[in-house]
Amino acid sequence: MVYHVDQRGFFGFFGGSYIPEMLVPNITELQSRYLEIIEDASFQAEFRQLLRDYVGRPTPLYPARRLSEKLGYPLFLKREDLNHTGAHKINNAIGQILLAQRLGKRRIIAETGAGQHGVATATVCALMGVECFVYMGEIDMKRQAPNVRRMQMLGTKVIPVTSGSRVLKDAANEAMRDWIAHPEDTHYILGSAVGPHPFPDMVMRFQAVISEEIKTQLPAQTPYQLPHSIIACVGGGSNAIGAFAHFLDTPSVVLIGVEAAGKGLDSGETAATIARGREGVLHGSKTLVMQTEDGQITEAHSISAGLDYPGVGPQHAHLARTGRATYVSVTDEEALVAAHELARLEGIIPALETAHALAYLPRHQAGPDQPVVLCLSGRGDKDMATYCPEA
Ligand SMILES: *Cc1c(COP(=O)(O)O)cnc(C)c1O
Repeated sequence: MVYHVDQRGFFGFFGGSYIPEMLVPNITELQSRYLEIIEDASFQAEFRQLLRDYVGRPTPLYPARRLSEKLGYPLFLKREDLNHTGAHKINNAIGQILLAQRLGKRRIIAETGAGQHGVATATVCALMGVECFVYMGEIDMKRQAPNVRRMQMLGTKVIPVTSGSRVLKDAANEAMRDWIAHPEDTHYILGSAVGPHPFPDMVMRFQAVISEEIKTQLPAQTPYQLPHSIIACVGGGSNAIGAFAHFLDTPSVVLIGVEAAGKGLDSGETAATIARGREGVLHGSKTLVMQTEDGQITEAHSISAGLDYPGVGPQHAHLARTGRATYVSVTDEEALVAAHELARLEGIIPALETAHALAYLPRHQAGPDQPVVLCLSGRGDKDMATYCPEA
């Protein structure tokens, strides 16, 4: 279990909990109770029932016939885009709202980049009838306007963040500040496998349903027992770690995370944290962070709001450091081309985030008998203005 979290919240060298004094009570409460709560049989029963009847799980493992022919290896798409609200984010939001209820928290806050996590959180708060506030950078509110309206219709208050570069990392800062100001009644539903312990481990446990399903679907539906490789895009890393989780201890399965190179790894406008980051602390955990020589966090750039983040989950930093997983990157341009190709070849319009994983496929090494599974993390409705700007 060398790839899993230890008692102190570390994945090898990375992880832990580096937080201001004021957050210690909230984080300590979570650390001491999360496992007992989520391993409880009644929690699991409710979580599983909602994943099935509300989210629509299990999601299909779809053999992409025309794309496979073109690539020369069998490709299967894990259809997280078919979840209620259109991405994998809802798996984690359902888990965390059930946890918040058991902690007695009546007020929910969240940060969002592309708006998918905001929509997922707004959705589960409407479902449970609790108050919800979502922090979103002003820039992201413009580029993902349809998701802002969805959150508002669901009864959530979207709070524009005007500090910093007005994107995801700034929204996460504001959400942390809110949590410090409301320690008693508020739970912070963090949207990715980042942040102080126990968030990375907890989010992984909720998203692990993705690989749990792959592990039974592949042998049940195909001639293959195990995937040759699993590929997923990495922002903070929640869909990727969910798709990897049940295969981490099976060394024959190749694990590949695809980061956003933005305008290019050496352009100065990139979000490829594992490729270009150094050890540092961001949002409460020790991980790889994009920073200047003297440790100032640098701005990330990606065409995709959901990948536009200068850090990465500590578990991915550890998987990269140990070599268990390999991380590659794809530019804005390459992602756009891949999105249009999937639309034409398979009739599926992917999220811009997911398009990064798709763009890597032609470079991937696999043979005609080696099944490759790609986590299709979300659908592209929110990205139509970027895909087809004339419309
Ligand atoms: C948020 C998002 C991502 C990136 O987040 P991870 O935590 O890295 O998974 C990827 N794809 C979609 C569709 C998203 O909404």
